[in-house]
Amino acid sequence: MSIVNAKEIMIEAARGKYAVGAFNITDLIQLEAVVEAAKEKKAPLIIQTSVKPSKFLDRHVLVAIYRTLAEAAPIPICLHLDHCTDVEYCKQCADAGYTNIMIDASKQTFEENIRQSKEVVDYSHSVGNLSVEAELGTVSGVEDQVKVAEDEAALANPAQAAEFVERTGVDIFAPAIGTAHGVYKTKNPKIDFDRLGKINQILNGGGIKTPLVVHGGTGLPEDYIKRLIEMGGAKFNVSTELKHTLIDTTYEYIIANRDEYDPGKIDSAVKDAIRMAVGHWIDMLGSAGKA
Ligand SMILES: [Zn+2]
Repeated sequence: MSIVNAKEIMIEAARGKYAVGAFNITDLIQLEAVVEAAKEKKAPLIIQTSVKPSKFLDRHVLVAIYRTLAEAAPIPICLHLDHCTDVEYCKQCADAGYTNIMIDASKQTFEENIRQSKEVVDYSHSVGNLSVEAELGTVSGVEDQVKVAEDEAALANPAQAAEFVERTGVDIFAPAIGTAHGVYKTKNPKIDFDRLGKINQILNGGGIKTPLVVHGGTGLPEDYIKRLIEMGGAKFNVSTELKHTLIDTTYEYIIANRDEYDPGKIDSAVKDAIRMAVGHWIDMLGSAGKA
């Protein structure tokens, strides 16, 4: 029950009008913290790594840890590769045992984005019980390999979105709607809620087929989150907040305990802080008790 792809838990979420939290991790402590938080909240979970940590930690090691934790957990857990621009690496992670793969060819032309996304979809589906995410339009900010300036960010066109999903056969879809990676520069970021709603209506109006992903979760006001879920957002990606939590907690712990040399205590402080942050997100997304 516990090893799942993203699509199956997102369809449940979209039907139930809540969203699944997708949390980026870069090491084992964060991974365990995220799993513990989701278990405490009885929430379905998506663990994400971007390409760099999956190479640094080794995708096979990551998958082994994921499987060990997920098989023992009473909640469904997916392991997702985030924003991968390299078709071959997407395939290698599918082979290794990731259960959701994001091919991000959103900086390519429309036709090239379709070609690369479809290649990853076809390959991943031949490997096993995997789902694939692709993006149309561009989310501004920085996400590992992909950098986009805010003024360059192009939002997803609803008619093109329908054509894109149809031609690629992608399982879950990330339309650019004005959310950004990193930290929002204003308190009220400009998000195109209606665009998400329109795309959701076209793709899922007759029953949920292709659940939608919201990138750039960090810093979104809670009322925005609720509205985005209402408009069809079924997966929220949270990365920057957890990175800040990790660095700030580590820094503060060391400053307060400069004479101590016990890494386990730093790990434990970090784990607690991340568990709290993830628990708060799960509450905001409405996924507590849904596993
Ligand atoms: Zn993203």
